Amino acid sequence: MAKKVYLDHAATTFVKKEVMEEMAPYFQNNYGNPSSLYSIGKENKKAVELARNRVASALNAKPKEIFFTSCGSEADNWAVKGIALANRGKGKHIITSCIEHPAILNTCKYLEKHGFWVTYLSVDSDGVVDIEELKNAITKETILISIMFANNEIGTIQPIAEIAKVAKENNIYFHTDAVQAIGNIKIDVNKLEIDMLSLSAHKFYGPKGIGVLYIKEGTVIDNFIHGGGQENGKRAGTENVPNIVGLGKAIEMSCNIFEEYNKKLIKLREKLICGVMERIPYVRLNGHRIKRLPGNVNFSFDFVDGESILLMLNGMGISVSTGSACSSSSSKPSHVLTAIGLDERMSRGSLRLTIGDENTEEDIEYVIECLEKVVERLREISK
Ligand code: PLP
Repeated sequence: MAKKVYLDHAATTFVKKEVMEEMAPYFQNNYGNPSSLYSIGKENKKAVELARNRVASALNAKPKEIFFTSCGSEADNWAVKGIALANRGKGKHIITSCIEHPAILNTCKYLEKHGFWVTYLSVDSDGVVDIEELKNAITKETILISIMFANNEIGTIQPIAEIAKVAKENNIYFHTDAVQAIGNIKIDVNKLEIDMLSLSAHKFYGPKGIGVLYIKEGTVIDNFIHGGGQENGKRAGTENVPNIVGLGKAIEMSCNIFEEYNKKLIKLREKLICGVMERIPYVRLNGHRIKRLPGNVNFSFDFVDGESILLMLNGMGISVSTGSACSSSSSKPSHVLTAIGLDERMSRGSLRLTIGDENTEEDIEYVIECLEKVVERLREISK
């Protein structure tokens, strides 16, 4: 059988066996509504609360600060719209960065149509925001700073502690989209003074369609889905019990294996980066060399189209991505690569390879070998 290598863990991950096993009873046997007062309902309420405790303990938060959402995008929408609507009496200015995920950028664009104004901070050639630029952007009207923990395309990790400090000193709420970071970076929301944080289970071996918004106690934020009293009345809708249980198990598992997982990914990442840079000419590594997600590699190959590489690798059993999963169907160059200064040609030659739990050294060797052949072949054709 042909070799198969999945290197697109930033798009999504498989669901771990232990996670599936904990979820399984909640589809058929334990199907009660957590709001019901009879036993099969109450048992499910307990399962939801256990998951909430597991998330709280992973983030060093209180269980009552954890709110389940349908995905990371919903958590991002809630943080930005919820703060904007609840605090518009104080001001209508929001600060974010130009390399955020569309779930933040398009929410900001939506709010701009409704009387808010947004500053999109630039980033340097590694994709890092500038603290001085952030300080200078703050006005008396600023009510929210939302900066992602780590970028989904180039993997760059932001100076979150410094950003949170600036927000705190200026009495401004701070939200971070940590969808790519959770499972890869240990985050203590108290130590880092984060007011709100978004996460999504399908990025750390949990199910798709379930996320969390952490909201620090005392934060003034509007409710998101209006309806019944679920999630403390802030986010209505009958709980997705199997997925909530899966998210709880997945986050707990990721905390238990955190250090060894990190070491393994960094070793494979370095093997991939060094192997490609040594063997293929005219290649650029995008994103910060060190301050990047342990499993993220993003290259630009000069004189070739990333999409052609992707298709040829696919034929060799290798799954990678050209940009973020959400923009890979778009023909526009990635807004992240443009923001770090890449011209259209280098942007189009980009390839994101994101390593995960099931990958091995042999996988990486196979990918380097195939990439070398594919890039050489494509450059020859285009001569
Ligand atoms: N934020 C970031 C940084 C992401 O990478 C993603 C998904 O790729 C999201 C938000 C959206 O998460 P979800 O797919 O759960 O809506």
